[in-house]
Amino acid sequence: MAKRKKNPVDVYQLVCGSCQSRNYVASLKKENKSLEVSKFCPHERKHTPHKAKKA
Ligand SMILES: [Zn+2]
Repeated sequence: MAKRKKNPVDVYQLVCGSCQSRNYVASLKKENKSLEVSKFCPHERKHTPHKAKKA
């Protein structure tokens, strides 16, 4: 296996689906690429669906 220069784990930003604020940074493995997760949004102070976007 050849080493890659970049970090092998892809880093994503979790963006709130309703207010578009980037609340979290997550590193997702390929197997774990569910692109929408329910997270607490500090701006709205409630749980909203967050979408993972490539950082
Ligand atoms: Zn929000």
